Amino acid sequence: MRCPFCEQRDSKVTDTRLADDGATVRRRRECTTCGRRFTSRERPEESRLYVIKKDGRREPFDRMKITAGISKACEKRPVPRETVETIVQEIERQARDQLLAEVPTSFIGDLVMQRLRQLDDVAYVRFASVYKNFRDVESFVQEVEQLSKQSREV
Ligand SMILES: [Zn+2]
Repeated sequence: MRCPFCEQRDSKVTDTRLADDGATVRRRRECTTCGRRFTSRERPEESRLYVIKKDGRREPFDRMKITAGISKACEKRPVPRETVETIVQEIERQARDQLLAEVPTSFIGDLVMQRLRQLDDVAYVRFASVYKNFRDVESFVQEVEQLSKQSREV
C-alpha cells in the first residue's frame, strides 16, 4: 500500500473495519517513512482477481494455469514445486496489496521473469521466450547474450 504523501510502500495498519457497503475493508494506516496517516479501502481476500489479456479479454486469475506455465519452463530444472507455488502466491499477493482488481498479463509475466531470473537461467529463458513471444531469432539471441553477460558480472 503506497503512502499517498511520500509514495513509500511500507505502512502499518492501525485499525481495520468493514466499510459501510459491507464489501470492502477500511484500514487506517500510518506510513513508516513520513509518519502521516491515511485510510485505505481494500477488498477482502475472496474478491475475484482478473487478468487482462493482450487482446483486451478479461479472465479470472487462475492459479493453476499460471503454475502450469511456470512448471513447464522449469521442467527438468532444479526448481522445486513449492518454489513455483510460492511465486504464484507472491504474484497474487502483490496484486492484492496494490488493490488491483485486474492485472494485465504483463504484470504476471514480468514478476515471473524476475523470480525465474534469480532461480534458474534455463527456466528463465524458456519462460521469456514464450512470454515475450519473440518475433525473431535475433531478439531471442539478444536476451540470451544479455543474460550470460550478467551472470559473468555476478
Ligand atoms: Zn509517507
